[in-house]
Amino acid sequence: MDFVARLRGFLDERSILIDAADQDRYLHDWRNRHHGRALCVVLPRSTQEVAAVLRLCSEHGVPVFPQGGNTSVCGGSVPSEGGEGVVVSLERMNALREVNPRNNSMTVEAGCVLATVQEAARAADRYFPLSLGAEGSCQIGGNVATNAGGTSVVRYGNTRDLVLGLEVVLPDGRIWNGLRALRKDNSGYDLKNLFIGAEGTLGIVTAATLKLFPLAKTVLTAMFALDDIHEVVLLGERLQKQFAGELVALELMSRSELEIVLRQIPGSHCPLGDRGQWQLLIELTSAADADTLTEQLNACLEGALAGGAVLDAVVASSEKQRAQLWHVRHHVTEGNKREGMGLTHDIAVPVYRIPAFIEQAGAMLQARYPGVEVVIVGHIGDGNLHYIGMLSHEAWQGVEDKPGYQQRLAHDLYDIAVPMGGTFSAEHGIGSLHVDEMERYKDPVEVDLMRQVKRMLDPKGIMNPGRVLPRHD
Ligand SMILES: Cc1cc2nc3c(=O)[nH]c(=O)nc-3n(C[C@H](O)[C@H](O)[C@H](O)COP(=O)(O)OP(=O)(O)OC[C@H]3O[C@@H](n4cnc5c(N)ncnc54)[C@H](O)[C@@H]3O)c2cc1C
Repeated sequence: MDFVARLRGFLDERSILIDAADQDRYLHDWRNRHHGRALCVVLPRSTQEVAAVLRLCSEHGVPVFPQGGNTSVCGGSVPSEGGEGVVVSLERMNALREVNPRNNSMTVEAGCVLATVQEAARAADRYFPLSLGAEGSCQIGGNVATNAGGTSVVRYGNTRDLVLGLEVVLPDGRIWNGLRALRKDNSGYDLKNLFIGAEGTLGIVTAATLKLFPLAKTVLTAMFALDDIHEVVLLGERLQKQFAGELVALELMSRSELEIVLRQIPGSHCPLGDRGQWQLLIELTSAADADTLTEQLNACLEGALAGGAVLDAVVASSEKQRAQLWHVRHHVTEGNKREGMGLTHDIAVPVYRIPAFIEQAGAMLQARYPGVEVVIVGHIGDGNLHYIGMLSHEAWQGVEDKPGYQQRLAHDLYDIAVPMGGTFSAEHGIGSLHVDEMERYKDPVEVDLMRQVKRMLDPKGIMNPGRVLPRHD
């Protein structure tokens, strides 16, 4: 019996998409930069169904491409072009299995959309801190698989720091139930950390037990305008020291980025007007009342305002104003997509080296890539910059060897970041886009260990081939 006929043995008609029109939205990314094909798309409804699919794929040697909300920005969620594999979408596995406020934890299925998880936590008077621009579409399984970062890492860490336990289906179809809701468990190797950030190359995450936190009494959001990137970093350091445990977000935007959002996204508004080459968006959460927290923030800013380092500052005085500030930040990716061809680089360097990176990278771009506009948005508290070379759609059409141009520019930037102790992939992962960089920039011993882990867990190499490690591995 052929492969699809055997799938039909345990999945109903609606769980297997064969027609091109039905498959379409699973076969390209949201920016339309990565395209693939598939034998079929399957939509399992339970861990047991995922297990049966993987068992069958393993038997037939059919490649498996796990997919969550399909918001990957590095081609991780789209199948390969050969069309010989199966997309396994987790979108129908979206149950909230348990919300446990007394244990400050919740267990959710992989297909739960991040915003739904945040809301469910809030409904139980708790806070789930993971937050990113794609939160209305990305799924917990995808967040776990990419170890997503986002805007609250400075206080709560990456997804890895928010996961207590996982349920994973292994490539041979076995189910590992590691859904423990413990803060301490040193009973052997911490296997969940192998699957977090593995981008679906070692197995399919079907559920996760997540950490919850108390809801804060006060949330204070503010934006500052500055001209000097050195002063931005110094202010960030001061805020982190002064508001240890209370500073939840420390986000940077260049003026060029702000202007793109204001131009491209209807309804966006920046109360700071047109002052400052850099905008710093911060959020504090505290058990103190709003007046006390505002006073403390004013005291912290006093010197920087008086000395002229901070040109202007606004503290959101209502929920509406707070939402306006975050609206701008959360729409940078959409704004950049509309503006032109944004060549995005997700670098990180130690925080204190950010000014040096920006200066060296800016000089390099001016010398070697005239006409490319520098657009920067980043999680500056984590040393993570999305460094974007922006070309108009017309200018991009005029570039002859597009992949070559893209790769040259990327390597020129990584060659600055990596020697600074930095990385070419801070939070977006490797996907299919950065596979070559793994061998170019990572320690060979580290890559070899990754290959061995991959061979051990996925000896037939069926899980997301060509992602993270080169295909021949
Ligand atoms: C507007 C916007 C803003 C973004 N902001 C951020 C940000 O601030 N920080 C950040 O880190 N990322 C950001 N991203 C990138 C992206 O949203 C994240 O990587 C997100 O975690 C991906 O989740 P997803 O469900 O869409 O996964 P997908 O895109 O569907 O998949 C991503 C990878 O995970 C694998 N995968 C998906 N589900 C599973 C599963 N259940 N089991 C095993 N493997 C799986 C896929 O095979 C693929 O390799 C942003 C993207 C957009 C569009």
